[in-house]
Amino acid sequence: MFDKILIANRGEIACRVIRTARRMGIRTVAVYSEADARAMHVEMADEAVCIGPAPVGESYLRGDAILEVAKRTGAQAIHPGYGFLSENAGFAAACAEAGVVFIGPPIEAIRVMGSKAESKRVMSQADVPLVPGFHGEAQDLETLSAEAERIGYPVLVKASAGGGGKGMRVVRAAGEFADAVAGAKREAKAAFGDDSVLLEKYLGRPRHVEIQVFCDTHGNGVYLFERDCSIQRRHQKVIEEAPAPALPDDLRRRMGEAAVAAAKAVNYVGAGTVEFLYEDGGFYFIEMNTRLQVEHPVTEKITGQDLVEWQLRVAAGGVLPLMQDQLTRRGHAFEARLYAEDPQREFLPAIGKLVRLRPPAENEHVRVDTGVREGDEVTMFYDPMIAKLIVWDEDRDAALRRLRVALAAYEVVGVTTNVAFLGAIAGHPAFRAVEIDTGFIERHRADLLPPPAPVPDRGLAIAALSVLLRRNADTRKARRAASDPWSPWLSASGWRLNDDNHHDLRLMDGDTPRALTLHFRPDGYEIEVEGRPAIRAERVTLDGETLTATIDAVRTRATVVCQGLDLTILSDGAVWRLHLDDPTARAAEQEGGSGRLTAPMPGTVVRVLVEPGQTVEAGAPLMLLEAMKMEHTIKAPAAGTVSAVNFAAGDQVSEGVDLLVLDVAEG
Ligand code: ADP
Repeated sequence: MFDKILIANRGEIACRVIRTARRMGIRTVAVYSEADARAMHVEMADEAVCIGPAPVGESYLRGDAILEVAKRTGAQAIHPGYGFLSENAGFAAACAEAGVVFIGPPIEAIRVMGSKAESKRVMSQADVPLVPGFHGEAQDLETLSAEAERIGYPVLVKASAGGGGKGMRVVRAAGEFADAVAGAKREAKAAFGDDSVLLEKYLGRPRHVEIQVFCDTHGNGVYLFERDCSIQRRHQKVIEEAPAPALPDDLRRRMGEAAVAAAKAVNYVGAGTVEFLYEDGGFYFIEMNTRLQVEHPVTEKITGQDLVEWQLRVAAGGVLPLMQDQLTRRGHAFEARLYAEDPQREFLPAIGKLVRLRPPAENEHVRVDTGVREGDEVTMFYDPMIAKLIVWDEDRDAALRRLRVALAAYEVVGVTTNVAFLGAIAGHPAFRAVEIDTGFIERHRADLLPPPAPVPDRGLAIAALSVLLRRNADTRKARRAASDPWSPWLSASGWRLNDDNHHDLRLMDGDTPRALTLHFRPDGYEIEVEGRPAIRAERVTLDGETLTATIDAVRTRATVVCQGLDLTILSDGAVWRLHLDDPTARAAEQEGGSGRLTAPMPGTVVRVLVEPGQTVEAGAPLMLLEAMKMEHTIKAPAAGTVSAVNFAAGDQVSEGVDLLVLDVAEG
């Protein structure tokens, strides 16, 4: 076995590999980009070496730099994780040349399986069933359209070098064919530098069922059952499970055997996944991934095996830890991919600081694979996955309940996430009833992505109570020590203290003002929202960010995170965002004093137009910010003097950070 390995990756998978290596007594070397200097995988590894700037082309994809680090640190093997260099035959060859073990399959297997067309040619020779289609070398439109006619519409045009759903087009009728081929070729050329395409019959309601295979260098090959990854958005996996529900056992065995045959046909070694589409009792090979998959933990949960340990053992020349007849499975597992993205804005990646990040507690039922901690930034340089939440229980229903509970408990504040979307899938009756195929999300879109609803009165009440309690605490603290004069919680201005002992408060729910009145009662509070019958709150306490209260006789706990005047309330899976409408703070912003100019959204500073000390007129442009591919100008809200410029061109900024400080001119 190796004494020391290098992990040529970052994020959760790097941390995942390090964990197993450490358990096996193997030392680890991390590589990292300048943006990742304080990343979790860097902290976890025994040694860590910076390999270049943030963009992946200058760091994580630099095979030469990585091999140099391996030599320098004495790492005997390189684990590529997934993505990056994991399926790069050139890198595997460079490792071999440098005398470093590439923890993955032989170069030739990577090369053959890297081409969807070539892999299909090899698979058909090995009698592995294929989706009817065309995967010949001819690429002229005439041949392709004749083949499309032969296959019969709808057909799917796929980039041969494809991955991640790129370069894929569904064509429903002959008239759309030429445009679709041109589009797929353009996308494939841009993404993979290779524009060859293949054609497949487009199946109407397939399930994506994939087989985990493992082979060693001694001629042994096994399958570790299957995973169902039918819950997809734009051909990308969202929730995976193992085993595939309602899959007949003889089919499971036949698919497993076909997958092992597929692996053997290319003299495979190590971990691989053979992907099939499954429809109407038939299954069809679509591709093989020659690496450890993102969703491998569900297989680990049902088999009780550590697949990274298997990889390390096989790469070191060992025999597979278990043979086919020794492999068993138990129970059911799900994995949900938690992303920093905004489902309400076409799932645009979100970036920013993870102001609060509290995963559910891990135990035998719940596992969290993550590469970030509270306080870390999600940047635009890398995949915005925050974590993989994996749950296990004795059967599918019980595991699904665990998934719903764990998702509801997952607390992320600072960046928008898909957690509510994942929760909606996990709670959907059709998902529970195993009415699943790759069209699930599209078909149930309206249920899964409901339009944003107004914050319920209970949420407003929780917000009001937390504002009050925080203000009281701040006032007490301020009396004891010099305080931050800018704390909005210190100013009583959002409040009017009236004769009959009540406070009026305004919260912005998006663009909608919500008015509340909070009455003080001997045993607690009564909160009136827009004239509706009052909500009663008793035994209210605020401990850090946790508010506990008995609201209308129900004991409730919620997390309330304040960032400036913004409140995020997390309560049993629901996330509500509100803004405290404080008239005095607003007036200060408009009239004078010192103004902080904050980033309206996460983005990159394109240009700084002023210097500290410079005087500016009202409306003068101060900074250009690029976000979501659009430029935004930060303008002076009033005349004044720039007293600080906190960022330079090229810097990434998260939403709400202070970009500049302006001393507003008197008068
Ligand atoms: P990629 O490598 O880009 O991820 P795949 O070939 O693995 O592409 O396919 C990804 C997904 O696209 C599948 O899981 C499935 O949902 C869909 N898909 C692929 N081929 C077909 C097909 N012939 N018919 C219907 N859907 C397909």
